[in-house]
Amino acid sequence: MISARSEDIEPTLAEHGVCIEDIRWILLTHGHVDHLGGAYNVWEKTGRQAKVVIPKKEAQLLRDRNEQIIDYKAVQGKYITDPGIQEKYMNMLLSNIGKEIEPSLEVVEGDSINLGDEIILKVVETPSHSIGSVTFVLEGLNWAFAADAVQMYGGLSGMPTIENVTLYRNSVKRLLEEVRPKQLFLGHPFRNKNGVMQSAQIEGEQVAKVLQASLEMDAKLSDVVKRHLSDGLPTEQHELYAPFSSIADEMGYTGDPRHLPCVFFVIMNGYLEELDNK
Ligand SMILES: [Zn+2]
Repeated sequence: MISARSEDIEPTLAEHGVCIEDIRWILLTHGHVDHLGGAYNVWEKTGRQAKVVIPKKEAQLLRDRNEQIIDYKAVQGKYITDPGIQEKYMNMLLSNIGKEIEPSLEVVEGDSINLGDEIILKVVETPSHSIGSVTFVLEGLNWAFAADAVQMYGGLSGMPTIENVTLYRNSVKRLLEEVRPKQLFLGHPFRNKNGVMQSAQIEGEQVAKVLQASLEMDAKLSDVVKRHLSDGLPTEQHELYAPFSSIADEMGYTGDPRHLPCVFFVIMNGYLEELDNK
């Protein structure tokens, strides 16, 4: 299950003494289905009172479910061409996402959102786990809600999910050098250098370490990719990871790319595009 479903959100809120009906803001950092999939149902439970906020660049993914499929086809679909797998994934996407909704607010870099009671969030654009990902920074406390904009050494699959590696590098550096959060909230637990899953809530001096680890993983992958692909894409390959088999070998990556969403192809495509643009 990759959706943030209201059935899952409700008991978690209750543990903190919050009723789902009382939610007034639904803040979406980006348009992936595991982040906005439950937005409609939560919004319904609030009697449609909650305001739904999403980055302007990804608002289409909320208001039109077909955009999720277009998004998939633009990257993973280039490498996973088996129609059976594609169909299974499309069905999963559409069943995990609720009905379409019109966002109440589409945000861009520099916007401030006044949540009431003098609680203000600043919007910092942090592409490119997805092209429009933003980080919400709580003014005063300087807590950063980056969700998937920071990937460390990747999640369960052992690979970070990054669509555009050049933008990702800049976004992580910006968080490290400019925003310098006191607390950093990620969208999932991610692995550290030793492969151990870390908490998604990071505090104090650990914040800089997590951001540096994210840059280290990018540097490592970037180096491997350059060595394997600078003379172009190889032709003869193990089918499963083609055309990136030799990279999977060197990285010791054994994930099954047929289990979508396939992080491996997303990030390899990102590095390939970067090489092609140089
Ligand atoms: Zn995501």
